[in-house]
Amino acid sequence: MYTNDTICAVATGMGQSAIGIIRISGPEAITVADKLFRGRKKLSEMPSFTAAFGRIYDGETELDEVIALVMKGPHTYTTEDTVELDCHGGPLVMKRVMELLIKEGIRPAEPGEFTKRAYLGGRIDMTGAEAVMDVINAENDMALQSSLEQLSGSLRKAITELRDKIIYETAFIESAIDDPENYSLDGYSDKLSGTIDEIAGSIDKLILTGDEGRIIKEGIRTAIVGRPNVGKSSIMNMLTGTDRAIVTDIEGTTRDTLEEYISFGGMTLKLIDTAGIRETEDAVEKIGVDRAIESMNQADLVMLVLDSSESLNENDIRLIEMIKDRKYIVLVNKSDIAPVLTDEDLEGLDKDKILQISAKSGEGFDLLRDKIKEMFFSKEIDFNNQVYITNVRHKASLIRAKESLDRVRNSIEAGMGEDFYTIDLMAAYEALGEIIGESLEDDLADKIFSEFCMGK
Ligand code: GDP
Repeated sequence: MYTNDTICAVATGMGQSAIGIIRISGPEAITVADKLFRGRKKLSEMPSFTAAFGRIYDGETELDEVIALVMKGPHTYTTEDTVELDCHGGPLVMKRVMELLIKEGIRPAEPGEFTKRAYLGGRIDMTGAEAVMDVINAENDMALQSSLEQLSGSLRKAITELRDKIIYETAFIESAIDDPENYSLDGYSDKLSGTIDEIAGSIDKLILTGDEGRIIKEGIRTAIVGRPNVGKSSIMNMLTGTDRAIVTDIEGTTRDTLEEYISFGGMTLKLIDTAGIRETEDAVEKIGVDRAIESMNQADLVMLVLDSSESLNENDIRLIEMIKDRKYIVLVNKSDIAPVLTDEDLEGLDKDKILQISAKSGEGFDLLRDKIKEMFFSKEIDFNNQVYITNVRHKASLIRAKESLDRVRNSIEAGMGEDFYTIDLMAAYEALGEIIGESLEDDLADKIFSEFCMGK
C-alpha cells in the first residue's frame, strides 16, 4: 500500500558514534525540516543535493548542531523529497530529534520503508530492493560483489529478456486467433517448441547457479569430523581465531554441534563442529554422534581430521569409508610431530584431497584455503558476466516458470489447440514477474520489506 505521508528514521546504528543520521522522506520532508532547522539559508531554497550547517530547535531549546542535506524528488533514493540530518551520534540527542519530528507529524518509518518507497516509486525493482538488503548483510567479499552486481540490475535484465520472449509468443498466438487472415499458425508449434526449449534452458542455467549462489551468500556448510583427540577443536580454533570451541585432552569433550561462521580467504565457511564420531555407551556423547552424522549429511564439504602421530583405528577407517562419496578434504593433523601414518594407510582416498596440517604451528592452512576455493569455485568467479541466484524466493519462482513451460510443451506434444498454450505461457510470465516484483502479491512484498533493517 502506498501511503503518501512523510516518514523518518535513524539511518545509522543506535550507539554512541561521531555522527548519527536521521533520514526524513516524503512530501513534507523539507517543509518540516525547515521549521526546526535554523541556518543561514532556508532548506527549501537550497538546490538539490546541497548541504547546510545549522541548529535544530524545539521551540527556543537547541537540540543539536547538524548538517542538513537536502535532496529533492524524484532523483532521490526514495524518489521523494528527502532531508538527512547529520546529528551528533549520541543516542539521547538522536532520540530528542526523532521525538521532535514525530511531534511535527512525521511518522516513524517501518523497517525497509525507504527502500519500499524506492520500489513503489519505480526506481528499483524487487531484485534491486533485495540486493540492497544483501549488500547490507553481506558477510564476505564474494557475497558483496554478487549483491552489488544484482543491484546494478543484472538479474532484472536476465529475467526481463525471458519475459519479453514469452510475451511475444503469447501476443502472436492471440493475434493469429483474432486475425487468422494476417497471421498464420501453420508450423507454429515447432517454432514455439524451439523457443520454449531456449527459454527453459536459460531458466535451468539460472537455477543451477543457485547452489553456487547459496554458497557465495551463506557460506560453505562444512562439517569437521574425526574421532576424539585428533585435533578438530584446535583446527576450528585456528580457523576462527578464537577459543570458542573447547580444546581438551579428555576424549569426547566436544559434545554439542555448534555453528560458527568464519571468513576464510574471502569465502565464508559455515562450520559445524561435531562431536567425535565413534560407538559409545555414553548417552550424551551418543546424541553428539548422531548429530555429527546428520551434519555430515547436510554439509557441502566434509573435513575429516586424522592424527598423523597415531595409526588408524577402526573409527578412522569407518569415517574414511563414509566420506568417500562426498566432497571431502582429509586433514592429516599434527604434522609438527613425528609421523606414524603412511601413504599406504590412506590408499583409496584422492591424493589431491589429502593435506598435511598442524593446528599447533598453523602449517598447511594456506593450502587448505586454496583447496577449498578450487573445489567450490572452480572457475574464476566473474560477477560481470554471470548472474547468480542467491535468493530462495527467486529460485522458487524460476522453478514454477519452468513447470509452466513444461506444460506448454506437453500441450504441444498432445496436439492441443494454440489457445491452450497461452494460459501456461502467461503463468510462466507471471512466475518470472514475481522475481522482479511485477506480479507480486502486496502482502508478500510487505513481508520482504519487513525483513529489512530500520532506516533503510
Ligand atoms: P578434538 O577432540 O578432535 O576436538 O581434539 P582437540 O582439538 O581437543 O585436540 C586434542 C589434543 O591434541 C590437544 O591436546 C591438542 O593440544 C592437541 N593437538 C591438536 N592439534 C595439534 C597439532 O597440530 N599438533 C600437536 N602437537 N598437537 C595438537
